[in-house]
Amino acid sequence: MSMSLPIEAQTPTSDWIARFIDDIPTGVAVFDRELRYVAANAPWLNVFGLAPVSLAGLRHHELGHRERRPDERSAFECEHADGEPFAELQGRALSGEIVNECEILQAGECGGVYRRIVSFRPRRGRDGAIVGVMAALHEIAAAPVATTAADPVDHRDDDPAQGIQAQGIQAPDEPDRLTGIAGRDAFLARVRTALHLPAPPRQQGTAMFLLDIDDFKGINDLYGTRTGDRVLKTIASRLLTGIRARPTPSGRSERPERPGAPLGADLVARLGADEFGIILGTASPTPEGAEAFAQRLLQLVATPVVVGDQRIRLTANVGHIITSPAHCSEDEVLRDLNVALQEAKARGPNSAKAWEQALTTSVSRRLAMLDELRRALEEGEFVLHYQPIVSLTDQHVVGAEALLRWNHPSEGLIAPNDFLPLLEESGLIVPVGCWVIREVVRQMQVWQMLYGRDMLGWVSINVSARQFNDPSLLLATLSEINDSGFPLDRLKLEITESAVMRNPDITRAVLGELQEIGIRVALDDFGTGYSSLGALRHYSVDTIKIDRDFTKRLDTDDGRELVLALLKIAGIYGASVVAEGVETVAQQQILEGAGCDFGQGYLFAKPMDGSYFGAYALTHLVDGAAAR
Ligand code: C2E
Ligand code: MG
Ligand code: MG
Repeated sequence: MSMSLPIEAQTPTSDWIARFIDDIPTGVAVFDRELRYVAANAPWLNVFGLAPVSLAGLRHHELGHRERRPDERSAFECEHADGEPFAELQGRALSGEIVNECEILQAGECGGVYRRIVSFRPRRGRDGAIVGVMAALHEIAAAPVATTAADPVDHRDDDPAQGIQAQGIQAPDEPDRLTGIAGRDAFLARVRTALHLPAPPRQQGTAMFLLDIDDFKGINDLYGTRTGDRVLKTIASRLLTGIRARPTPSGRSERPERPGAPLGADLVARLGADEFGIILGTASPTPEGAEAFAQRLLQLVATPVVVGDQRIRLTANVGHIITSPAHCSEDEVLRDLNVALQEAKARGPNSAKAWEQALTTSVSRRLAMLDELRRALEEGEFVLHYQPIVSLTDQHVVGAEALLRWNHPSEGLIAPNDFLPLLEESGLIVPVGCWVIREVVRQMQVWQMLYGRDMLGWVSINVSARQFNDPSLLLATLSEINDSGFPLDRLKLEITESAVMRNPDITRAVLGELQEIGIRVALDDFGTGYSSLGALRHYSVDTIKIDRDFTKRLDTDDGRELVLALLKIAGIYGASVVAEGVETVAQQQILEGAGCDFGQGYLFAKPMDGSYFGAYALTHLVDGAAAR
């Protein structure tokens, strides 16, 4: 092979020649008279899925036989499209023939078939005698002949505004209409391409990410869909620019991709309303690099989006994966990405999770439980228990808190902590939460009928952040109850501090609407979050509930001081106070002495079912009207 020398070099070093040969965008291989490999450059090795170490002294067709598993065609098995095997084409060259541009077919591990164009020619020694065969591979496209998406050229530096074209994808569909970036079909095509890469890059895997924005419905409901659309466009363009400015995801410095190297370009696509898919085209991603990149994606979403004079705060979750040779279809990759995403969601807003096998097991268990929970709602297996809230001065029952239980057909009564996280994460808490409100109203009407009087001043109902972020059903249920003539001031909604903090803008808007229709609000688990003061300043809160953990610490000086401070804060904002988890007479006396209005806890009564509570309350009552 004749070649010009680098200008600065006096003599070409063997390292320089090796790199030069590796950089030729054509696969080249040299065979001896026995058709054994003598040498091959990087593009050739990549395309045929070979490692240089395993190569020396072996024949091409032998590699195929050696690697083949009994149940499938090997990735390395090649045949001429007209049926002439690779070795026979080599043999023709060995007998002096120049065999130009033969089409050979190469089977991929997942069933894809690649069309390769290879030329063979004799290799002659100084004396002109044939000493072996040279082969050149002209066609090294990554995609199998069966698929349509195949442009392995990296357009990373293109203008982000070019949308899908900038992503190096010949999209089988239009770009996403709203954001201009690639759509779901382009994403799936790109996954397919990555799965059909020849063995070495395929074995190293491709890093893929699924990003889901939390409670986007709440943004649309609160700000309107036009603003929602603007938010999505901003996120799409941030992801696009973010992916270009990224540090190397392999976590180490890489050689730049060679032209024609069978690795794809980066891709950002919109997969659903508020779901984005991201694929990194870089070689050899590492788990640490992928996790760091996932965190970066979360940061890109967490920076507030400014639309007009609104600063909109968003949270998201990311599931990610480095594909493995075991992945045979885009459906499998998407399934695993979703599993990782669900796990990230279970860990709370702004978290990312890499897929691992154990997740699939735990997610399938959770999915089975979710099915059961859906059935539980349909079949009426949820029940409410009521725990009295008493006046600390005279120990009369003034109100109650409704607490959810699952009356499981075989396992009996299940406490909310065992199933609430799943209800919240899946969104099932929205219909279940509305059932809770209706059930409380029904129960209060039953007590009224049975005992001929309003039993209680109010019943507290727990609502979770998810219900606030998707408030239409909650508000519709309440206004329906209002229309039926039931006085809404007999319900109090308990919302936790952490829920308030999860999305303060939406919470504030919903609280405003609740107050307009006459619903009172209690701040639950007060003191456990870091937002106590801020929350009281921004929202008009009727009651605060001091968390059980503080009540427990009342027997220490520090604990007492802390509770006194919380009582003072509540006093400043004009909120009444319920101390939770009162278990001893000593605690009750300290609280009463400190001016705490109400108590709730095992000292007075444990939560009990509706009919039992009716009988209990009758003997511990003041008139509901008086308690309000
Ligand atoms: P929470 O709202 O803070 O409710 C008080 C929890 O403390 C209840 O647990 C209650 O049984 C328990 N408790 C009350 N007094 C004492 C006491 O003296 N000692 C001890 N050790 N515990 C006491 P439960 O019923 O297991 O509920 C746990 C949490 O589940 C609730 O905490 C609430 O955040 C949530 N939850 C319950 N029902 C619902 C519901 O209908 N919707 C929603 N979104 N969340 C609910
Ligand atoms: Mg509560
Ligand atoms: Mg509480």
